[in-house]
Amino acid sequence: MDGITVNIDRRRDLLLVVDPQNDFCPGGALAVPEGDQIFGPVNKLLPRFDNIGVTQDWHPPGHSSFASSYPGKRAYDTIELTYGTQVLWPDHCVQGTRGADFHPAAELTRAQVIIRKGFHRELDSYSAFFENDRKTATGLAGYLKERGIERIVLAGLAYDFCVLWSAQDARRLGFDVVVVTDACRAIDLEGSAQAATVSLRDIGATLTDSHHFD
Ligand SMILES: [Zn+2]
Repeated sequence: MDGITVNIDRRRDLLLVVDPQNDFCPGGALAVPEGDQIFGPVNKLLPRFDNIGVTQDWHPPGHSSFASSYPGKRAYDTIELTYGTQVLWPDHCVQGTRGADFHPAAELTRAQVIIRKGFHRELDSYSAFFENDRKTATGLAGYLKERGIERIVLAGLAYDFCVLWSAQDARRLGFDVVVVTDACRAIDLEGSAQAATVSLRDIGATLTDSHHFD
């Protein structure tokens, strides 16, 4: 368990809850193991922050990240798209479906911004900031900068994809980054959870858990 103490600054910090959606929780189309276990720590942290954002994976039917869009392909196969290697997923978080809704355990009433991502049919989007071409912006960076946010505290699903990519982009954009490890769960394809931790440390993100916020 990581134990670096983080002093919350209510003015400059934003808690960003990544994809707390039914499809990423047990029983969902792309269930992350123990995905629903994040909500205890997330709900404990939420009242501590004045600035709260949420991302919502939000795909049109037939999205290019769905294995079902490619005859003969199966979920978790990879293909090459114009912007690089793409993991193919089960159909998930289809716009307007129950699977795309926020999980009922997530207490998100006080969130001020909801960033929907993955709505371009030909582009997947893991990061809260850019689509997977790493060029097409979601608009979140401009929003945060205009609001004077300097540090992003990340929680959510999945640790080794959308949380990791959001952290990488946030660092590249000049934000400080904290990842709350017990408020995340990983998909863990071929060691991707461990690789994510290495990458997060490399980029200078602070890893800690929800017990270590002051
Ligand atoms: Zn998706």
